[in-house]
Amino acid sequence: MPTPSAAFDPIRAMAEARHEFGEHGGVNLSIEASTTFTVLAANMMPRIFHGESGPFSNAGGSTGGCYLYGRHFNPTVFTFGRMLAAMEGAEAGYATSSGIAAIASVLLQLCKKDDRVVAATALYGGTFALLKDYLPSRTGIETTFVDIRDLDAVRAALRRTKARVLYFESMANPTLVVADIPALMRIAHDHGAQVVVDNTFSPLILSPIVHGADVVVHSATKFLSGASDVIAGAVCASRDFIGSMMDLHTGSLMLLGPTMDPKIAHELTLRLPHLGVRMQEHGVRAMAYAERLSALGAEVAYPGLPSHPQHALLQRLANRGFGSGGLLTVDLGTTARANRFMEILQNEHSFGFMAVSLGYFDTLMSCSGSSTSSELSDEEQRAAGIAPGLVRMSVGITGSLEQRLRQLEDAYSRSR
Ligand SMILES: *Cc1c(COP(=O)(O)O)cnc(C)c1O
Repeated sequence: MPTPSAAFDPIRAMAEARHEFGEHGGVNLSIEASTTFTVLAANMMPRIFHGESGPFSNAGGSTGGCYLYGRHFNPTVFTFGRMLAAMEGAEAGYATSSGIAAIASVLLQLCKKDDRVVAATALYGGTFALLKDYLPSRTGIETTFVDIRDLDAVRAALRRTKARVLYFESMANPTLVVADIPALMRIAHDHGAQVVVDNTFSPLILSPIVHGADVVVHSATKFLSGASDVIAGAVCASRDFIGSMMDLHTGSLMLLGPTMDPKIAHELTLRLPHLGVRMQEHGVRAMAYAERLSALGAEVAYPGLPSHPQHALLQRLANRGFGSGGLLTVDLGTTARANRFMEILQNEHSFGFMAVSLGYFDTLMSCSGSSTSSELSDEEQRAAGIAPGLVRMSVGITGSLEQRLRQLEDAYSRSR
């Protein structure tokens, strides 16, 4: 099996996608602020309703008119989706109002009542709650959770449940387990399951669709935004699948209404062009912090460190030049020490903030067990490798590296 990502360059792919100019020749695209669109001929309207005309029926996905209504299609939102699709090496993309909206809409499009899902044990808390409680109680869609590092367990679960979907995160929240996407993809396809990958933690670094995944979902709230100012999400997949999600009569994007506001889409189109530069710098700094904390004897998990269990795997799968991501965890042993460590960093050094979320330009720190993974029971947390003193750090890109390393070292030595 060739390793396709060695040849995939997402920066080049994004530059090759069509550049959308503004209405008056502006270098940036305009915001299409209309919720409804005219047609030039009255007989066009029924054609759009029957899917014979419209954004996805034209050859090449042209956006040459035939729009209907803003919840269905907006050119500005579509342009953001097209940029993301290029970045992911996907045929098509569409943006949603949040990451969880993208995830829920994809699952409800792929699964019918009582269908089965196999999902990773280590997942974003909201996704876990959706799969574990919300979907089973309302739709009969049941999920079997497995440790995706155990390929035999994944195979057995898919065989036993005849699952329609295998769902996992490319880099898992918060323990930073890297998924063996090509191996998981082969197992899933052998068993007739579709592969959905949440690539929120590793945009540009990993390209799941290039490795054979069927659908990529993103929380654009995180690195894609980079400023912790908007809630947003996206789906990248084949043209057929995105088209099915947008179907006026059967599509979850249309019928559940997780629509992105065009003003938000416009904002995000201005941030994707510098995502590469940001990811590189997040990676350089996270690597430096991980090395420094390791040198101090701390228990650090960072996929860029040779000590990380999936270090070699990430090296094999990652696109070149974007580093190993902006997230690391350090285990302070107890919740009290973790809290002291974060308080010194925030309140004495202005090193970063005690806050959930990630991908911000400043450092964000949280104690995973008592925050973003609190949907999990103690036992589920242990199974997912979340220790009580585990601090997750989304490493920012502000301040000088030398200054930040000094602050980090001071806080670590004083909170042990
Ligand atoms: C934040 C996050 C989500 C949910 O995204 P929202 O934009 O908050 O809805 C999903 N998956 C991962 C990995 C996340 O970090």
